[in-house]
Amino acid sequence: MQTNRTFTMLKPDSVEKGHVGAILEKINAAGFRIVAMKLTQMTTADAKAFYAIHKERPFFGELVAYMTRGPIVAAILEKDNAVEDFRTLIGATNPADAAEGTIRKLYAASIGENAVHGSDSDENAAIEGAFHFSGREMF
Ligand code: UDP
Ligand code: MG
Repeated sequence: MQTNRTFTMLKPDSVEKGHVGAILEKINAAGFRIVAMKLTQMTTADAKAFYAIHKERPFFGELVAYMTRGPIVAAILEKDNAVEDFRTLIGATNPADAAEGTIRKLYAASIGENAVHGSDSDENAAIEGAFHFSGREMF
């Protein structure tokens, strides 16, 4: 089952703008089952660890500030081919490049404030899900 799971965050801009309900509707309509979900806020240390792979990139400081400025909705989602299908549902990192109807096309403001996270591999989905949830919070 692990290979059929992905991890997402509805980022602080989605919560601030009241887009959580609309984004969850799209996730449900696309056939994902919610395995775990909560409203939570990352600390600076959390965000630096979560995005450690990007620590040398010029946008790292802005990314950490953005991701910690307010609550997020973190969730684990299950579906056949979950990682790839969820990346398709959210669209390209830059909303200017995102396909019509994708979550980022609809709700992202910019390449930085881009509404949602989606894991990029099965391995990272498992690592990222475990970063936010204990086994007791997964259903
Ligand atoms: N990001 C940014 N500027 C960039 C590229 C990425 O601010 O030029 C931010 C953006 O919020 C993105 C996150 O860093 O979602 C992680 O980047 P990644 O390349 O992993 O994109 P993703 O996997 O989220 O599409
Ligand atoms: Mg990524």
